[in-house]
Formats: sequence, structure tokens, C-alpha cells
Amino acid sequence: MIEPANSRVAPRVGIGRQSRMRLQDRTWREVEDYLGTSRAIIIPSGSTEQHGPIGVIGTDSICAESIAGAVGDSVGALVAPVISFSPAPFNLSFPGTISIPEDVFAALVREIIRSLHSQGFASFYFLNGHGANLRPLHAIDVSALENARIRIRSWWEFPETMSLRQELYGDWEGMHATPSEISVTQAVGRVISADDAPESLVQPERLSQEFIRARAGDRHGPPDEHRARFPDGRVGSHSALACPDHGLELMKTAVTEIAEDFLGFAGPTLDGERRNGVST
Ligand SMILES: [Zn+2]
Repeated sequence: MIEPANSRVAPRVGIGRQSRMRLQDRTWREVEDYLGTSRAIIIPSGSTEQHGPIGVIGTDSICAESIAGAVGDSVGALVAPVISFSPAPFNLSFPGTISIPEDVFAALVREIIRSLHSQGFASFYFLNGHGANLRPLHAIDVSALENARIRIRSWWEFPETMSLRQELYGDWEGMHATPSEISVTQAVGRVISADDAPESLVQPERLSQEFIRARAGDRHGPPDEHRARFPDGRVGSHSALACPDHGLELMKTAVTEIAEDFLGFAGPTLDGERRNGVST
């Protein structure tokens, strides 16, 4: 069911997909000017897969793109288009999921890096929103590309963000269709009321620590088995605890930590103030 317009929550703190630093909104001349001041770029990576009864298909991409955009604004770094096609084979029994093999994803990422590197980009900061992207991303070898460096971070992994997730949801954060990721999507986009998806109000299966450890990085079983085991798509996550206010708080916390990490990676030559505006 599509929500009426009044249930949509507009971004309230200027963070989100309206970033000033989107590569797509620049001309090639502006990108060339940017390369005169920085060789770093943020590349968000997400997925296109089911996220339970109240989570939208683009959840991982929306989180990565929104947070990357806000980090870009904060540090003055360009942000590439989000990579939304990625491996999600375990979710293929849920309509809307699009999955590509891990080697295809890795090849796509390599070509993105190669393209940008050929023009002068050298520091590639991946901001990830999907667990199954981590293994192929970490396997990317940029040693043949002169001066190229790569850093891979998931938006949820920094200490303050981790504590906030724990504080807000405890064990109900779970593994998939987490209330934290759904909160972020609600802060920047669509809110699907739990009342319109009553199954989301049912407490999900509580996962053991062993289960979580064994499935880290989205190592789930075959699609039919996965859907049979987790019929509404949530994996231990009580998505209905999500709300837009939590999403904003999570974003602000994550953006602060990621911006600091990015500056540590890209170096002190970055000057956010100088680079924030579009070159004229
Ligand atoms: Zn997700």
C-alpha cells in the first residue's frame, strides 16, 4: 500500500540524498576543477533486496547514499552514484530483489575504480550499506594503479553509531531489515506504517549469538530455504521499532564519525569549506 503524501517525512537537517557533492550533479569541468584540489571520492554501495514488511527494497542503497551524501557535504568530497546492484542471492525468493554474482559485482567495482583513476582520482572511500558487499570489496586489489588507495567502511560500524543502535534497539536490531536502517530510510524518504503491515508488529524470532556469528556478511542459505525460515523477510530484526527521529539521530552520529574517518584517509589537504560550493 502506498502511503499518502502527508506520511512522508522530508529531510529536516539537510542530510540525505540532496547532497551538494553528488557527482551526477557536476559538469566534467567542475570535476576537473575538483581534481585540482582533491583526488578522493566517496563511493556508496548498497543493494536491491527485500527488507521485510515495512522496509523498502532500496533500504541499503538509500542508507549508504544518504549518509555518503551528508559526509560529502561535511568534508567537501565528491560522492559517486550509489552501486545498487550487488550480491543478495538469499533474498531472491522475495519479489523485487535483484542479485548479481559476487564476481560480477567485483568486476563492476574494479571498472568504476579504473575509470575514475584514469582521470586522476586515487583515494576511493567506499561507504557500504550491505553486508554481502564486504567480502568482494575487501578482495579488490588496486596495487597496479598508481597511488591508488581504498578504504571500506560500513555506515553502522563506528563506535558511537554502534552504541546508539544498541541503546535504541538492543537485541532487536537483529541482522536484516534492522530498525536502524529502516529508521534512516524513514528520515530521508518513505515511511510505511506498521499498521499497514500487521506482520511487522509480531515479535521476530530471536537469534542466538552463534547464528549471528555464522551468518555475518550475509552468509545465508538458499533462497527458498531462507524465505521458509524467515517468511516475512526480517532476520531477527524488529523493524517496527524504527522511526524517522531515530533515523536522523543515527545519521548525524554516523556522519560525524565517518567524516572524521574520511579525513584521516584522504589527508589534511582536504579543505571542506573551500570545496563545498560548486565551482564557477
Ligand atoms: Zn539492509
